[in-house]
Formats: sequence, C-alpha cells, structure tokens
Amino acid sequence: MATSHPPLSESRFRPRILQSVGIILSYQCTNVCRHCLYSCSPQASAWMSREVLMAIVDQLLQFRDHLRSIHLAGGEPFLRFEFLVEAVELLSKSHLPLAYVETNAYWATREDIARAKLEALRRAGLRAILISVSPFHLEQIPFERTERAVRLAEEVFGRWNVLLFTPEFYEHFKSLGIRGVLAFEEYRKLVPTAWLARLIRVNYQFVPNGRGAFRLAELFPSFPARQFFSSNCREELSYPGHVHIDLYGNYIGGLCAGISVGNGLQLSKLYNEGTELEGRPFLRGLVLDDLETLFRWAQ
Ligand code: SF4
Repeated sequence: MATSHPPLSESRFRPRILQSVGIILSYQCTNVCRHCLYSCSPQASAWMSREVLMAIVDQLLQFRDHLRSIHLAGGEPFLRFEFLVEAVELLSKSHLPLAYVETNAYWATREDIARAKLEALRRAGLRAILISVSPFHLEQIPFERTERAVRLAEEVFGRWNVLLFTPEFYEHFKSLGIRGVLAFEEYRKLVPTAWLARLIRVNYQFVPNGRGAFRLAELFPSFPARQFFSSNCREELSYPGHVHIDLYGNYIGGLCAGISVGNGLQLSKLYNEGTELEGRPFLRGLVLDDLETLFRWAQ
C-alpha cells in the first residue's frame, strides 16, 4: 500500500510503462483452486479472440524497448491448445520476449500425449514453461501428472527452462510420496500451520484476492478496515513489473485481479493521457484518494 498521495486536482491515472506482461487468454480452467486470485473455473467459457491477441501484440511491439518478459497465462492456456500454439508462434515471429507459458499440467495424462504437446510448443518457438505446484493445485491435479509434466518438460526444454511454482512444494510432495490428489484439509494435518502459512505467503507469494481472500482467510491474521484508511493502491496499480492484459483488453496492474486500470489495447493513450477518473469512483478511490474515502463511498 502506498502512503503518499498525488495532488487532489489530478483527475487521470497513468500507470508506469510495462516491463513484464502476462497475456490472459481466458479465465477458463479445469480447476477451481481455492486460492485462485482470478476466481477461474470451468464455467468461465470466454476466450481471447485472434483479433484481440493480434491487437495486443501490435501494442506490445510499440513498447518492445521497455519489455523484458511476456508470459501466456489463464485460466489454463492448454485448454485450447491450438490457440496456445498459435499465440506462441505469433509472439516468437514478432521477436517479442516470450518467456514462458503457465500451466497446471492437467493434460499430462499419458507420456505420449504430454510429450507431443510440449514438443509442439517447442516447435512453435517456446523456450520455457512454468508448472504450478501447490497444495491447492494438488486437490485437483493428480501429482503423477505434475511429475510427468515436469520430467518431460525438462527433456524437451532443458532442466533450467522448467520453472516450478513452487519448487518447495514439489519437493515436499515428492518426499511424502503423494499419489493422486490430496484435499487441502488432509495436507494441513501433515504440516505445522505456521510453516504452511509462511510457505504460502512468502514462497508462493499468495495474493489475498479472488477466491483466496475468502477461502484461505483463516490461515492469516486479519485487521480492521481502518488500519488501511490512510493508504491507497496507486503504486501497486501502477507497478510495471508484472502487468496483465486479459481477453477483454483490460489492463491489470500488478496482481490486482478484477481491477481494470485502463485499455490494454491502447497502450500509448493509456501511458500518455491516462484513464479519466471522473465517473470511476472505485478506481479514483484506489489511486487518487485514500481507502477511507473509498470505504465511506462504498457505505
Ligand atoms: S490457480 Fe491456476 S489452476 Fe487454479 S483455478 Fe486458478 S488458473 Fe486454474
């Protein structure tokens, strides 16, 4: 939370120019993870169109000098695998810095199927992959699929190009010899709560947003709203290090899921002119006023 406020006469919000961006192809997922900050689920059936994807690529090309990293995300991007391959190809041919694709590895049901998918992505130009490993994913993804995806991805992309999020959970599940899925309540019985809370907060960098804010509240201390009254979220929403642009073109600052700070299909306009805050009391409260003002407005 930022504590310094801009002058109240300011009526537009300009985020800092992005350096790293995740392209959210869909909020659809095989899973309904209890920590998911985007509240993804199988029911979220909308996907990015090819036109929107191409428009985002066009926009990113204008800011390529600032861009260090792009990742393709969801939801679960493997659900529309042909579109994912197309997106990888488009970014690679555009010489944009595609760093990795994120996945929960649900698709690694068989050796031949999994290898074929990874090799297709590699041929399309992908150089690295991020595989999610957490007690939340473990509730719905059998661990042998995760292990299979990791092993095959290491063969296809090379060991150092397979990112586990997180390696601590991966090693822990391996050491426990887990097979199949495991309910979070069962995993909790196996580990001290303080250890688990620290791993989730520090290593996993848990963001209390979306479903996680409700479903994991008991693991963390809570504070009264007035504790945050003097701060606002200007810095977080302006943060250039991990921006997302979703299938609708929403520009999402940092990991502040559900809050659109502007049009991600008009980046020059967003960075030069900013988003008008008049008529957007929620965004205004977050970036210009303070949280007490927003709280009073919401009441
Ligand atoms: S955290 Fe990932 S795997 Fe889980 S529901 Fe969200 S997008 Fe799907």
